[in-house]
Amino acid sequence: MTLNIGVIGTGAIGREHIRRCSQVLQNARVVALNDINRSNCEQIVRDFDLQAEIYDNAHDLITAPEVQAILVTSWGPTHEAFVLAAIQAGKAVFCEKPLAVTAQGCMNIVEAEMASGKKRVQVGFMRPYDSGYLALKSVLESGEIGEPLMLHCAHRNPEVGDAYTTDMAITDTLIHELDVLRWLLKEDYVSAQVIYPRKTRKASSHLKDPQIVLLETTKGTRIDVEIFVNCEYGYDIQCEVVGEAGIARLPEPMSVQTRRAARLSTGILTDWKKRFIDAYDVELQAFVNNVLSGNMTGPSAWDGYAAAVAADACVAAQRSGNIEPIAMPARPAFYD
Ligand code: NAP
Repeated sequence: MTLNIGVIGTGAIGREHIRRCSQVLQNARVVALNDINRSNCEQIVRDFDLQAEIYDNAHDLITAPEVQAILVTSWGPTHEAFVLAAIQAGKAVFCEKPLAVTAQGCMNIVEAEMASGKKRVQVGFMRPYDSGYLALKSVLESGEIGEPLMLHCAHRNPEVGDAYTTDMAITDTLIHELDVLRWLLKEDYVSAQVIYPRKTRKASSHLKDPQIVLLETTKGTRIDVEIFVNCEYGYDIQCEVVGEAGIARLPEPMSVQTRRAARLSTGILTDWKKRFIDAYDVELQAFVNNVLSGNMTGPSAWDGYAAAVAADACVAAQRSGNIEPIAMPARPAFYD
């Protein structure tokens, strides 16, 4: 059985996911495309030799009879309306992060999905599918390092464009940590604080970079995440868990070591697309398999909501300079 997919938004990640669905995954086929720029879709049809209908209106793509599942890879503020329309049409939907740009928007999706009586939504949080994070989680769950007490994390990008703003460090960048650390620890957050170290001269005048986010979880585990999006040297994701009996670190991506000219060195990736390339493959294959088998297991609309609630508190903390509480409602049984 092959899943017929319609894609809304054919920019950077949309293009990557279309390549994946057409050339890497099993049992997936892209049959419909929509983008605010029709020429993007035409280019993709040529580049990947697709047999796909181009729709000028995303809502027509969502309701098209040949489309069984939707990938939403357009600009964040458009996600909520497209996901709600997909639920309304009774179709499964994979939505890139953020599920919606506000926690209330995510809650609207949660409520619509529960009212539809069936899980249909997977959020594009790919790190829980990354082999490194999976290995780290299995060490924590083995009890080898005891109960986790502290996490030291970093999310570094070589550079960002002028359009990147201070709050995007939370809503676009930290959002991945907010999801994956909650998944890793199986705990929600209770408070957030943001502090600003000395600013790098590489950041644009309106951007505070780097930032340090301090989170506390329900069990009192303390997490510090350094966000440094003009670090110059690479795309570098770090996560170290300090437990009662030892320390576990996220493995580095595989890289050949060289000894040359009196130096021992290994490469560091610079492109986010490459750092999690396998995880993107696995998350989308899981979505395809789950839709075909009728059992959705990936990051849910509730996970999208939980990350958004924490992100809202972090943005409030950026602005207030205070420790802001994070109030997470109890998870509905629908998402157990
Ligand atoms: P992008 O390159 O700007 O692509 C978005 C595409 O959607 C653009 O072609 C854009 O057109 C189009 N678009 C905007 N509004 C639309 C609408 N109303 N209907 C149809 N198409 C519309 O952005 P991107 O980097 O691919 O990011 C897309 C989403 O994926 C974002 O939410 C981002 O946060 C997420 N993302 C996730 C990851 C991850 O690691 N999971 C990585 C990258 C991106 P215009 O260019 O004309 O606006």
